[in-house]
Amino acid sequence: MQHPAPQHASGRPERQGGRKPKPSTAVVIGGGIAGLVSARELALAGVEVTVLERSPRFGGCVTRHEVGGLTLDAGAESFATRSSVVSDLVAELGLGAELVQPNPAGAWIQLPDGAQRLPKTGVLGIPADLSDPDVVRAIGRRAALRASGDKVMPLGSLLRREQLSLGELVRTRMGDAVLQKLVAPVVGGVYSADPDVLEVDSVMPGLRASVASHGSLTAAVRAIRKAAPAGSNVAGIAGGMGRLTEALLADLKTRHVSLHAGAAATAVTKHDDGWLVESAAGTFSADAVMMAADGGAAVRLLAGTVPGLTGLEPEAGPSVALVTLVVDLPELDAMPRGTGLLVAPSVQNVKAKALTHATAKWPWLADEAGPGSHVLRLSFGRAVGQQGAEDFTGWNDDELYRQALADASSLMGVGIGDDDVVGWKVVRWIGALPSATVGHRDRVAAVRRELAAQTGVDVTGAWLAGTGLVAVVGDARRRARELAARLQPAA
Ligand SMILES: Cc1cc2nc3c(=O)[nH]c(=O)nc-3n(C[C@H](O)[C@H](O)[C@H](O)COP(=O)(O)OP(=O)(O)OC[C@H]3O[C@@H](n4cnc5c(N)ncnc54)[C@H](O)[C@@H]3O)c2cc1C
Repeated sequence: MQHPAPQHASGRPERQGGRKPKPSTAVVIGGGIAGLVSARELALAGVEVTVLERSPRFGGCVTRHEVGGLTLDAGAESFATRSSVVSDLVAELGLGAELVQPNPAGAWIQLPDGAQRLPKTGVLGIPADLSDPDVVRAIGRRAALRASGDKVMPLGSLLRREQLSLGELVRTRMGDAVLQKLVAPVVGGVYSADPDVLEVDSVMPGLRASVASHGSLTAAVRAIRKAAPAGSNVAGIAGGMGRLTEALLADLKTRHVSLHAGAAATAVTKHDDGWLVESAAGTFSADAVMMAADGGAAVRLLAGTVPGLTGLEPEAGPSVALVTLVVDLPELDAMPRGTGLLVAPSVQNVKAKALTHATAKWPWLADEAGPGSHVLRLSFGRAVGQQGAEDFTGWNDDELYRQALADASSLMGVGIGDDDVVGWKVVRWIGALPSATVGHRDRVAAVRRELAAQTGVDVTGAWLAGTGLVAVVGDARRRARELAARLQPAA
């Protein structure tokens, strides 16, 4: 195949002669948050950067859309505050004053026998206080007694297992009711995954060591809660998390980063001392490549040059459909289910796995919508194999809307009909939530090992760092800084 003459990655003419050394160049593949953050770090280090994004827009899972006259998040809508990595970035981008905390009313859980408040003292649904009345109400007195066995049971060999799932740890220590009624709904809502397949060391690094040192899971979770910063464990940006993408793009433009949307990378090869990237926007040569596409694309594109990556792509994550309803319904002003509900997989009459009452959760959005107007966001799509899993990829938008109306009525305990709906939209996220399944850490280590042997290339993104903005932003910053440092050794 013939290629047009390669462009310099910055899109600028190469400097000849002169006293200033030519700046290093890099191509970032993937314009999600991992790619945009990497591009910014490289540009900050003086590297000339080009970003190639496959879709017509940047931001990946962090983007906004219009529904019923409101601008709303279409993907991620908050970030965890266990680390300051995201709020630091938000502040650097000039949005520090726009950081907001959600309504402390908290979420509910839908169990087969009704809805109730989610106990507030847990981590990923694992309770830190087994005498909390909300815990006892959710699992029943007998199961609460079984769960409290965790405090006296010897640890045995469980923690010495090389690979341990979150489900197995919770079931062994606290029993099946805690797993099914408290942990599975939360984990399903956050990761769209079954706790039995999630690797504990990937989703909660440090938990295993904490159980070992504190002697029980309850005490370990309590210690994690104590160490967390005061206040809510998530935060957002007034106007929506999509503003992070918009601020990053504005920042990259001031740093003369060359941004190409609708420009899927199709091949990556090593040449001379650098790299050649073929894409829908042309062929780019650069000193370095930062691969920030999803795991499947990353492995496909790099395996030709780094054959050891073959087979190390992650399992495709579940497909998730988000249905946003904007409704005029003053009955919802009373926030009958707090900030929304997580649905236990064993609930039969509801297909959604979670519902966010966004106007109850975010005061800025309630102000924007006005009294009596509400935003409900329902997500569909549990991991294949999980109880209650159903493949929604074959459902058309209208079918999903009808199901969302029925589920929202049942979950909120308020009848919601077509006449109440001001606007609605369906967004599909296909495989956008890679699961950290058992064996994930070994796979990540193998990918890192393969790439360490190469010069001028690194990989970042949720498929390696873990799902969630804290993990993704932290990893992208660290890796891009290291890549830039390798490109520009100290004089
Ligand atoms: C519905 C939903 C809700 C979420 N909610 C939250 C939340 O509230 N809080 C939170 O912390 N996290 C949340 N997450 C998770 C979080 O958004 C993601 O972990 C994070 O945004 C992933 O960023 P990324 O850049 O690694 O991947 P992505 O956002 O998937 O970006 C990868 C990009 O690479 C591009 N690409 C792929 N192949 C190519 C190619 N060949 N050439 C060029 N580009 C390519 C893709 O088009 C995409 O834009 C949510 C995710 C989803 C799907």
